[in-house]
Amino acid sequence: MFFQKDIETMSRKQLEELQLERLKWTVDYCYKNVPFYTKKLDEAGVTADKIKSLDDIKYIPPTTKADLRDNYPFGLFAKPMKEIVRLHASSGTTGKPTVVGYTKHDLDLWSDCMARLCTAAGATSDDIVQISFGYGMFTGALGLHYGLEKIGATVIPNSSGNTEKALMYMRDFGTTVLVATPSYALYMCETAKSLEYPMSDYKLRLGLLGSEGCTPEMRTQIENGWGLFATDNYGMSELIGPGVSGECQERCGLHFNEDYFLPEIVDPETLETRDEGEYGELLVTTLTKEGIPLLRYRTRDITKLNYEPCKCGRTHARMEKVQGRSDDMLKIRGVNIFPSQIESVLIGMDQVSPHYQLVVRREGFADTLEVQVELVDSSLLDSYGKIQELQKNIAKRIQTVLGIQCKISIVEHGTIERFVGKAKRVVDLRKENK
Ligand code: ZN
Repeated sequence: MFFQKDIETMSRKQLEELQLERLKWTVDYCYKNVPFYTKKLDEAGVTADKIKSLDDIKYIPPTTKADLRDNYPFGLFAKPMKEIVRLHASSGTTGKPTVVGYTKHDLDLWSDCMARLCTAAGATSDDIVQISFGYGMFTGALGLHYGLEKIGATVIPNSSGNTEKALMYMRDFGTTVLVATPSYALYMCETAKSLEYPMSDYKLRLGLLGSEGCTPEMRTQIENGWGLFATDNYGMSELIGPGVSGECQERCGLHFNEDYFLPEIVDPETLETRDEGEYGELLVTTLTKEGIPLLRYRTRDITKLNYEPCKCGRTHARMEKVQGRSDDMLKIRGVNIFPSQIESVLIGMDQVSPHYQLVVRREGFADTLEVQVELVDSSLLDSYGKIQELQKNIAKRIQTVLGIQCKISIVEHGTIERFVGKAKRVVDLRKENK
């Protein structure tokens, strides 16, 4: 059940003492070895001995993805290339990618992180694991690969592509665990069903999904399709790759590897610390990394943290699934809103499609939010009573999730624009009135 029980079940007090000691080390290490941080910390007047408690982290200026890009390729490395044993890069959609380097110690801690999360999800040395992430500069495949080998599982480095061959290995080798993105896991399942072999030829029992978001509905589809149990994990190459946090079998949040990574939740606009349990942007400070240590890295991911010990016995904080990106945040009447939160309400309702649009206006001094929702079956529009009831129902659910009132407009099927790629869900008319 545990890979490193003593660490994973440490008391909060012990954990915080360890984090404070490691935070001081990291600040000092960054100051001495990365000119970018020497300058930044000098400007902010922060030194390691000024950090007296974990709260003092707020005096450290955050680091952004732009800082990594501006220092391309190796500007933020704290070790000479002689000590770097691996490079990875994230694919930048525009311009240069971000490059990260690992020392031997970093690869070891990364494997520990993954070994813990895979064990928490239920993987053991008896498992045969097929990795269907693409190998290469992307961190996903090798991260899980070494973590799973560390727990003694049999790893098949199959990579992605050639799905029929992957399915043949699965049948012939008796694969029990699948590592894949949710969408590929689903695609593999559809392909398996289209082949002549019965589904009973497949022995999958566990899915370690990751690298892209997965709605609860999609997860259920994958679980039912394959007859497996699936967990989710979270990470990013800037921080280490996968392995920053992941679900245990209780699936009530993603356990943060808090002895290696210090999480904070802040207001994305002011960067002020949010109270425990409140949503905000996740900042992460690496606590022991040598190759490319990062102070208060802005993930832009919106989530919240729960510090209550979990039923599984682990004490490390649990992070909720990412709710959205801070770049997409809308502020309405002082409340932070993410389109994804509204989407989650709509996805759970049969009568409406997942296509919607949010219109924000300023009426007098107050902001108003209109949610335009599309019907699945337009004939419902003939019944005024039913439409009213549906409007009320959606408004009530949204108020429960967001805590604000909004106007619901029901429109005919096919009215709302479809997008290829990233959807533009928000029309903010407030800016035009200024
Ligand atoms: Zn747990």
